[in-house]
Amino acid sequence: MTTTHIDTVAHPGGAAHLVSTYATNWILLQDDAGITLIDAGYPGNARDVTDSVRAIGGQMSDIRAGLLTHAHVDHIGGMAVLAGEHGFEVLTGADEVAHARREHLQQATPPDIAAMIARRPSALGWLSRVLRLGVLSRRGIDDVRAFTDDELARLPGAPVAVRSPGHTDGHVAYLVAGGRVLVTGDSLITAHPTVSTVGPQLISRTFDHDPARTRLSVETFTGLDADVIFPGHGPIHHGPVRDAARAALDRR
Ligand SMILES: [Zn+2]
Repeated sequence: MTTTHIDTVAHPGGAAHLVSTYATNWILLQDDAGITLIDAGYPGNARDVTDSVRAIGGQMSDIRAGLLTHAHVDHIGGMAVLAGEHGFEVLTGADEVAHARREHLQQATPPDIAAMIARRPSALGWLSRVLRLGVLSRRGIDDVRAFTDDELARLPGAPVAVRSPGHTDGHVAYLVAGGRVLVTGDSLITAHPTVSTVGPQLISRTFDHDPARTRLSVETFTGLDADVIFPGHGPIHHGPVRDAARAALDRR
């Protein structure tokens, strides 16, 4: 059982919820038409996702679709379990589909992780927790498909895709809550159990497929008007997204 914390941003006609946990986050968009689930944690978080849906007054049958920011195990793992159990469709950006089907894998390898822990022994506690959550799973989702922007507009919460390649080739952020909130996935995070820095930041290079391209994507966030961040890791961030993106880029 994982400790979860839920932050809610209400907007006309619905609400966007960030569910944050020690190791990873997911998002629930809720309105009269049902729920859109964005990311779903590690395989071992599947029951936590179900509990979070109940905590906002919903049920799993309310889920109209699962969306992925990207196909790393800490975002797709729970989605593969839950889509299999509940039969909802899973959508992602066109350039992330092959990754989500596990036709290839753009993820830190066990030697990458070992090297990181050699540099940062405190990350050993993180490793023991994510091993229990299923970090070694290679399970993808065979019938995942690419969304269209029109399709997203009709989903609960009407998310708007903000393509942000780098962390993976097909990484996508989403504007939600009527454009007030940016769901940043792992392009921009606010904390991570393997580092001591708190606040808007780029994720460790160990986990980033193409750090230079991630920076270019985060540059594009400086043109957005959103004023809340729902990150892939770390707590909610309040304040202009453009400032947070600039601060993250200036950190390194
Ligand atoms: Zn992640």
